[in-house]
Amino acid sequence: MVLELGKGALVLDDMKNVSIRIGEVVEEEEEWAPMGPTPMPSIATLRDWDFFLLRRYKPFYAPYCDMCCLCTMGKCDLTGNKRGACGIDLAAQTGRIVTIAVAMGTTCHTGHARHMLHDIEHVTGKKLSEIPVDLGPEIAEVAPLTQLITGIKPKTLEDLRKALEYVEEQITQVMDAVHTGQEGSYLDFESKAFHLGMMDALGKEIADIAQICAFNLPKGESNQPLIEVGMGVIDRSKAVVLVIGHHAPPAFNIADYIEGNGLENEVELAGICCTAHDTTRYYEKAKIVGSLGRQLKAIRAGIADVIVIDEQCIRADILYHTRKLGIPVICTNEKAMHGLPDFTKKDPKEAVKYLLAGNAGCVILDPLKVGEVAVEVARARRKQRSEDFKPVLSEEEFMNYAKACTQCGNCTMACPQGIRIGEAMEAAEKGDRSKLEEKWDICIACGRCEQVCPRNIPIIDMLNFAAWNRLINEKGKVRRGRGPVRDSEIRNVGAPIVLGTIPGIIAIVGCSNYPNGTKDAYTVMNEFASRNFIVVTTGCMAMDAGLYKDEEGLTVYEKYPDNFDGGCVANLGSCVANAHIHGAAIKVARIFAKRNIRANFEEIADYILNRVGACGLAWGAYSQKAASIATGVNRLGIPVVVGPHGSKYRRAFLGRPYNDEDWMVWDVRTGEKVRIEPAPQDLLVAAETIEEAIPLMAKLCFRPNDTTQGRSVKLTHYIDLSLKYLNRMPDDWHLFVRTEADLPLAKKEELLKILEDKYGWKIDWSKKKIIEGPIRSYHAGFNPTNLERCLRDGFMTV
Ligand code: SF4
Ligand code: SF4
Ligand code: SF4
Repeated sequence: MVLELGKGALVLDDMKNVSIRIGEVVEEEEEWAPMGPTPMPSIATLRDWDFFLLRRYKPFYAPYCDMCCLCTMGKCDLTGNKRGACGIDLAAQTGRIVTIAVAMGTTCHTGHARHMLHDIEHVTGKKLSEIPVDLGPEIAEVAPLTQLITGIKPKTLEDLRKALEYVEEQITQVMDAVHTGQEGSYLDFESKAFHLGMMDALGKEIADIAQICAFNLPKGESNQPLIEVGMGVIDRSKAVVLVIGHHAPPAFNIADYIEGNGLENEVELAGICCTAHDTTRYYEKAKIVGSLGRQLKAIRAGIADVIVIDEQCIRADILYHTRKLGIPVICTNEKAMHGLPDFTKKDPKEAVKYLLAGNAGCVILDPLKVGEVAVEVARARRKQRSEDFKPVLSEEEFMNYAKACTQCGNCTMACPQGIRIGEAMEAAEKGDRSKLEEKWDICIACGRCEQVCPRNIPIIDMLNFAAWNRLINEKGKVRRGRGPVRDSEIRNVGAPIVLGTIPGIIAIVGCSNYPNGTKDAYTVMNEFASRNFIVVTTGCMAMDAGLYKDEEGLTVYEKYPDNFDGGCVANLGSCVANAHIHGAAIKVARIFAKRNIRANFEEIADYILNRVGACGLAWGAYSQKAASIATGVNRLGIPVVVGPHGSKYRRAFLGRPYNDEDWMVWDVRTGEKVRIEPAPQDLLVAAETIEEAIPLMAKLCFRPNDTTQGRSVKLTHYIDLSLKYLNRMPDDWHLFVRTEADLPLAKKEELLKILEDKYGWKIDWSKKKIIEGPIRSYHAGFNPTNLERCLRDGFMTV
């Protein structure tokens, strides 16, 4: 029954035994923008867009394994076009494995987001509906991914919870599809992987915005303070609490306990991996020991008095190492409890006593109890040790181990970096430790060498010993993670990005599994920032970049401001802050081009693919999260370069520049199809060296919509960087020349001559004009789209 009141009054006098029940009060949503065509898309909704991407950027597989043993009908041999007992072929199986890897990454970020919402309610004592999504006066376009994908513009964290429910449902549906006897097409598996990648991005946005709003982390402000980073920045005169992982509320509680009890001069809070970033966003005095690649080195060096782990990227064998040194471990997250007893419901003092009695560790799942336990254990242990920080090996032990090495080479064979440990041991035995020392930064501390050494040599301890001076003096600076990009910044850079005069946005993200140490992180950021690209970074690579200094002793963060602008390097935060990179590209479409971003994924991805010259770099791609991050960025039309370890995912999305039909787009101005230059040429591509990666990234910033001025700037950098890093002209630069005005002015004649001599183009030398040769001519009004719908109905604007 619906009771409607017009005029008059409703009098409820003298009621007895009447109950009035009001169900859910549905507030009519404010119409902030028209609803786009794809609110909360399901697996199949964006399939046409995915298939367009997969036609142009064909999946290239190099599977590690051509057997399948996922069910008990197997294992099945899929070589030579054979099919498994369920009918699947090798291409579909590879697509399935990729989908599973992306699902693992996506669930990690999404599980983190869900955990964050639970912890926020518990820690703050507030309901999610009581915490506004308020990112300050300069960010009106909050949560662009949430708007784009779900059609919700969140007002409170409760709205983010609804968006998260949607993500969780989609993950379940895709995981259903990887079961035996479901999907059979590799293209549909890739489409599902794209769908998960998009969910990954949304899960990250939810996690980061929730923690920013609930814990008052930086809201996109520039000029963030410089945070100390490195193994040498830890003040061992204090009690040292080391946090490792990605979910920071327990670390926030440690910071609260330190501050609440005035222990800042007595207790050092430091972190490894993304928890470190987020802890510094909450507590400025916190320090960063380093990235994932420093984890085992730091644990084995014995830096910490107590170690607190939460979730993701924690070594599975952490207790094996900490037990040897007697460092207690506190597990604070259900996802990583390492078989330890649960003290969550016990008095924190009992946990302190237990840990100080020499036990390996315990579980405390209530973040509000972690601070007291961690700090009091660290303080007590500090009293039991000296201030001296010495290698765990003695001089004699070091020499004995060096002598014990037989140079068998097992370690080198097992080492993902191919480090010639035996050779360095031999040199150390003869008194030259420099070879071991120089391997210290390149070693990613995976520990595989120790597993295969027949002489049981503790190779990581040997590296730490040889590089001890370097270790205790490793002191860098990293800007504190600033969070989202401000609307005002997009207003300033929207036009230069789309016109191409800011040559590109370079997003440097991910793990520290580099082929050549932390210098790579510095080199790539410095190169692009010095060329007026916008450089944004997150996660391990953001912290590693701060470890390397130029000849004047400056890190990239001291050299460049942290605005979202050309010639800047902005650290946005931990891995979940990656979502703000997607968000910036989406906001260019919204703020600069006035496109409606509400539930309008295809149109905005099409916009970004054609107009926003952005390229990601996951140089040290390591975990499944790297796969989900890259796949999510790809669906939004942004190419990604991965390092040689990233290529082990065995899937690339490569364009075929000479296939005319792959590069046909509609020009909305004329309604005709136009063959464009291959821009961007690839969607996911691996590079072997940083020298190969840098020019490649410059190339992947070309977009069909570039103006002649913009194209000329981009070509200048592409050619310049190829000459600088590869010592040669790129062999495909001519594909991106539409008119003589695209050519870099300083090299115009030289390049016209090459176009004539090498590529057979016709040149009118009296006017220095191109008569014949380019893939297409340039028109300032060119308005490209890959969506027939947009050609027919126009773009959705607000
Ligand atoms: S899932 Fe299919 S291919 Fe794999 S083991 Fe089972 S039957 Fe064989
Ligand atoms: S710990 Fe270092 S040296 Fe040993 S295998 Fe791993 S990367 Fe190589
Ligand atoms: S595996 Fe052990 S013994 Fe063999 S070369 Fe390496 S360190 Fe030496």
